[in-house]
Amino acid sequence: MGSSDARSDALLMPTSVLAQLGGGRVREVVTAPAAVLSEPGPELDPTDPDVVRLCADLIATMRVSPGCVGLAAPQIGVGGQAFCVDVSNHAKTRTCHGLIVLVNAVVTAASRNVKGREGCMSVPDLTGDVKRAARLTVSGRLPVTGEEVSISTDEFEARALQHEIDHCGGHLFIDKVAGAHALHPRKVYLPAADSRVE
Ligand SMILES: [Zn+2]
Repeated sequence: MGSSDARSDALLMPTSVLAQLGGGRVREVVTAPAAVLSEPGPELDPTDPDVVRLCADLIATMRVSPGCVGLAAPQIGVGGQAFCVDVSNHAKTRTCHGLIVLVNAVVTAASRNVKGREGCMSVPDLTGDVKRAARLTVSGRLPVTGEEVSISTDEFEARALQHEIDHCGGHLFIDKVAGAHALHPRKVYLPAADSRVE
């Protein structure tokens, strides 16, 4: 957004599916050490109306949370493999598929590990340096239709997808940092003082 070399990658979600994902409720975000955040979530039926509502709630909650680029089911207290991601407005984004909502997603290819700073609404006081694949392919099912889709991406969108898939497996980014030296207190926002905090 606003970049001089603006990209127009294909959007992942069909408009007919997006139309079914509006009107979600804003849910309370669960923070560590809540048990639901550290338990692997079960696979879900993407066509189940309860799962479609869960996805709508994830989107609604992400949208009202400043700076939030992704949210997974355990973060709103539901054990299960569903998440949303949208890095459209983030400065570090290269490839971008707009709003992504996936159920039962798995990483099918990953390469080129790079370290990057991450934050998480469920770990509000810390950020951390985490190595993630900068090139990534993910497969999963779309909510509503259950269609199997595959998405290949890079850089910040790839990082966000890996962070959310980790949540679905009961893993937090703080489990993946190289050590205590790679954890940092989240900085207080000061005007023009720091543009790095996510
Ligand atoms: Zn998170």
